[in-house]
Amino acid sequence: MTTTQRHAGRTALITGGSRGIGRGISLRLAREGALVAVHYGHDHAAAERTVKEIEAEGGRAFAVHAELGVPGDAAALWAAFDEGLAAQEAEPGLDILVNNAGITLPRPIAQVTEEDYDRVFAINTKAPFFIVQHALERLRDGGRIINISSVATRVPLPAIVAYTMTKGALDALTLNLAKELGPRGITVNTVAPGFTETEINPTLANPRIRQMYSDASVFGRLGAPADIADIVSFVAGDDARWMTGHWIDASGGVQL
Ligand code: NAD
Repeated sequence: MTTTQRHAGRTALITGGSRGIGRGISLRLAREGALVAVHYGHDHAAAERTVKEIEAEGGRAFAVHAELGVPGDAAALWAAFDEGLAAQEAEPGLDILVNNAGITLPRPIAQVTEEDYDRVFAINTKAPFFIVQHALERLRDGGRIINISSVATRVPLPAIVAYTMTKGALDALTLNLAKELGPRGITVNTVAPGFTETEINPTLANPRIRQMYSDASVFGRLGAPADIADIVSFVAGDDARWMTGHWIDASGGVQL
């Protein structure tokens, strides 16, 4: 695969950028020249590994710590970002924000407690909202906001209703924020993965479920983080300047 330097001179922040899909996005944007802020919640070692991997490829990155889903999470994230950026002696400001961090809640409605509900909304919906709010003063005109949702908001899946509601709200954020930020030339889009091989899906260890999820894609396989990262890179680039408020299927054509 050849990579261009389409993100040279840009700064990107990827929430949950240390592993899974977020790691794939961090690596891809860094390969294409971006200075990447790799946000993480708990796994400092994974964040350091991703930063080192980027540096080993000749890219630039730094880790940003903030636990999401707790009061003041967005302010803490941006304070850590500002500090990290200053340590890199980089220009203040941001070009690309990817709201990727998230948790799942694979339970039928009857088994969802109020605590479960509040937690999944706090991490998947409330955190991105306030992360965006605090990002506005840092995002340069012409910047990009990309929200990682899920194909589940368009293709109904069993026993995942509360999770899907959090992503449906994120889809609404995309659509409406695109209007609000259009005058600044900032695009806001959703990228919606389907079944992707990451740690969020421990049930993939079950061969029957693995086969079922693979068969759900018209390509007959699971997605890889790089499949999603390539799409994000395009949306983050200049070639996607004329698309905003869009919901982009990144599921390998999932049909159930
Ligand atoms: P993952 O579990 O490997 O990654 C999730 C990331 O979010 C991790 O980096 C994790 O540290 C971070 N995170 C979770 N809770 C956090 C918290 N409280 N504070 C800070 N960081 C936190 O899973 P993934 O598959 O890479 O998920 C990335 C995104 O893709 C999620 O938003 C997920 O909903 C979405 N998605 C994944 C799939 C899939 O099949 N893997 C499908 C559709 C959508």
